[in-house]
Amino acid sequence: MSKQHRHTLDTSRPPLPPGREWAVESPPSRVYEGADVGIRVTCWLNGDRENHNSKASRQRIQDLLGCLQEMIALVGSVPPDFNWPNAGFSGFPAPDGFDELDTELYNRLKDYITYPAFTTGVWGNEWEIEDAVCGIRPAGESVAAHSIIELARRGLLDRLRQCDCGKWYFARFAHQRSCSSTCRRRVYEKTEKFKTKRRKYMRKYYRLKNSGKVK
Ligand SMILES: [Zn+2]
Repeated sequence: MSKQHRHTLDTSRPPLPPGREWAVESPPSRVYEGADVGIRVTCWLNGDRENHNSKASRQRIQDLLGCLQEMIALVGSVPPDFNWPNAGFSGFPAPDGFDELDTELYNRLKDYITYPAFTTGVWGNEWEIEDAVCGIRPAGESVAAHSIIELARRGLLDRLRQCDCGKWYFARFAHQRSCSSTCRRRVYEKTEKFKTKRRKYMRKYYRLKNSGKVK
């Protein structure tokens, strides 16, 4: 193995022999679809959890995400009877910007190749054949890229979002707009809805104050 990384895409823990268990905290009460995959991307983009990555590497992942989102939106915008094999010929123009986007996406994705790798388990007779990442990019970056691909396949790519504070997060629900409750409050207070509500409240408060009902 030359300039490549033996780093499998499966981040689950290896099995323990019978009678032994992982000393872990109890499992979360709810499992959110795609959250385990999404967190690999957000950790990489946020540079946390000992992800010693470079700014250039984070930027590539962010650009791949943007490019793929743009492509999915573009394909989603054509009518259902649009015939792709005929696109580009006279009378059937490809959607605006499709060719450029297609080339960009191809060039980005081809950096994240995998190969089937035979691996034994930690204990005993277990073995499996996993997809291992290799190629010119850091292993962690490739894993983040494949997690983006996995989320795209599951239709969950729009759940990878950047909070108002700059931090990336995986939205557990479609309507989630912030990374934490603190940020949610701050974002809400900036909205017109909050400002209107607040103005109304203050007007009412001053009226009551002037009438002498409150001090
Ligand atoms: Zn935030």
